[in-house]
Amino acid sequence: MAYAPVRPDRSLPPVRVNLFSDTQTRPSAAMKAAMMQAELGDEQAGDDPTVMALCERMAALTGQQAAMFLPSGTMCNQIAILTHTRPGDEILAHESAHIVASEGGGPGALARAVVLGLHGERGMFDAATLKAALREKRRNAPPQTLVAVEQTSNAGGGSVWPVDLLAEVLTTAHDCGLRIHMDGARLMNAAVAAGVEARAMTAGCDSVWLDFTKGLGAPLGAVLCGSADFIDAAWRWKQRLGGSLRQAGICAAACLYALDHNVDRLAEDHANARRLAAGLAQVPGLRVETPETNLVFFDTAGAGLTADALAEQARSRGVLVSTMGAHRVRACTHIDVDAAGVDLAVQVVAEVTPAGAPFTIC
Ligand SMILES: *Cc1c(COP(=O)(O)O)cnc(C)c1O
Repeated sequence: MAYAPVRPDRSLPPVRVNLFSDTQTRPSAAMKAAMMQAELGDEQAGDDPTVMALCERMAALTGQQAAMFLPSGTMCNQIAILTHTRPGDEILAHESAHIVASEGGGPGALARAVVLGLHGERGMFDAATLKAALREKRRNAPPQTLVAVEQTSNAGGGSVWPVDLLAEVLTTAHDCGLRIHMDGARLMNAAVAAGVEARAMTAGCDSVWLDFTKGLGAPLGAVLCGSADFIDAAWRWKQRLGGSLRQAGICAAACLYALDHNVDRLAEDHANARRLAAGLAQVPGLRVETPETNLVFFDTAGAGLTADALAEQARSRGVLVSTMGAHRVRACTHIDVDAAGVDLAVQVVAEVTPAGAPFTIC
């Protein structure tokens, strides 16, 4: 069976502006220098000083007791699910969640858990929706043990769960005996956009993780945080899945560098996202969702164009975007894109959108 390639065709003209994903950022020279200087040990033996420093820092940042370094965010989600649930358990998550749509059916394949998709605007749901989805504890019902929230919600438009809404969902989950897991792939984008400490959003969660390969610009790595008992249990799954590492400090050093240098600047990505949205909104036929962080979604239906067609034509002029649905395009700002790149992208999208009038940058 053939799958559509994720990578764009390399025979195409060079990429001038890459808005495909913040995962495509490259480590800067300074970040690489920090990696070269990292003190290293054996991560699997709990003895890599740089990984240990990163984990301590992440536990403090999220208001949790302990933390564990992992190669990827997907592994954080899957290990958290494996640790929190037993086969046959039901996880409640937004229907558009990454664990539902983009992890290869991992919850079913690995934890043998089922996921119940909840509705809600912009990838979020409220306590009433959660309550309405709770089942009576009957022998023939799946045990509901875990609620998963995504901060920011990716498919929800890079939306930020307000602290109050999170607290309400968290309290409801706990009152009803469920644990709560936060997929914090872009947690720092949420914290910067909301102007709060990350721990204000994460302290009550039973597990939470942050990805370093997105807006933070590291080449790989994610850190899963939780109680000391949770992290102990999670370590067994890390070992079973082959996620225990050796001189991983070389990668943890990039993550520490990112925490020191690349968090506050996420505000620039958010400003560039707003600039991009404002530019795209001027292109006739495009319907642009108001960005809250670094993800800009727009709908091409009004321009008589599919998302794939727009992406292909933009690509032929050096601008990379991704698609999420028949008419839904995602453009993602990040550390390797500046305001001039954003303006160029707007110009190219205007040129390839049929209803688009000749466009000038103002
Ligand atoms: C990217 C992403 C993941 C997966 O992270 P990887 O590091 O790419 O495995 C999980 N959840 C969300 C919301 C994401 O955006």
